[in-house]
Amino acid sequence: MAANYNLHLHTHWSYDGEVTPETYLKRATELGMRCIAFTDHNTIDVRRDMEHLAPQFPHVQVVLGAEFDVDSPIGAHHILAYGFSRPLSSSLGKLLATYRERDHQQAACLCQGMQAQGFDFSEEDLKALLLSFRPEHVVSAQGLTPVPRRYLRDYFVRRGFLKEGEEVSKLTDRVLDPSIALPTADRVIPALKESGALVAVAHPTVFWRAEGRVIVDFSARYMDRLREAFQIDGVECAHMPSNQQQACRAYCIRQGLFSVAGSDLHRVEAGFDLGGHGGSNDWLDEFLERL
Ligand SMILES: [Zn+2]
Ligand SMILES: [Zn+2]
Repeated sequence: MAANYNLHLHTHWSYDGEVTPETYLKRATELGMRCIAFTDHNTIDVRRDMEHLAPQFPHVQVVLGAEFDVDSPIGAHHILAYGFSRPLSSSLGKLLATYRERDHQQAACLCQGMQAQGFDFSEEDLKALLLSFRPEHVVSAQGLTPVPRRYLRDYFVRRGFLKEGEEVSKLTDRVLDPSIALPTADRVIPALKESGALVAVAHPTVFWRAEGRVIVDFSARYMDRLREAFQIDGVECAHMPSNQQQACRAYCIRQGLFSVAGSDLHRVEAGFDLGGHGGSNDWLDEFLERL
């Protein structure tokens, strides 16, 4: 059965998202959904749109969230945060500025690294590439950001930097700067909690080490380590077809954590489904009570 909520959606305010917030709200209204959350990567810029859109879609509750890249002693994870108090706390403001600065550093690094390898790829080129899939007002508000691999690959092939079929990582791996570190849990989590947000680990069965190695693990012991490292209040138990959903949910019940579910959309096609993530409708009330 389709769920009546979706708590993991990326809008065009995510560096890798293309969807307008309005598109999600229209679709959620058509489907008679109760609640959706916007969870862009490392930013809550979508709140600029929410203020004027929310009154136009009164039947859908919209939660302001974000999905942060956070490092920790046990590895890097995607951490979902929901419901920020207003006005924003100063520690959250500083944290968001750190993530923004990191985007700018990565963007500059990409351009400089490509030029160092002899390719004519300027910041103007990067801006034009960003504008090919994200609106002008977003790009001007955020400045230069990283670009998802699929767009970089197509662009590099078009410009003759890469041959058809070659992996884009062949070029980008040589220009990435490992010194542009991710913010760590000991700074990020207190800033999120001070701002009144609930913290949940996204897709807990998929995470990665600093070296980029992706690890898939699920065990109660590992969940305990996650809970400790990120001080989580909840777990995204349903995210994509996963045989771990029931085990995640059972862990939440044992530990008194809330469960969330979402489809992690970044792009949409006609007739897209917002309720097919597999999470139960009962989870939403538990979540909203704590929000
Ligand atoms: Zn994620
Ligand atoms: Zn996501």
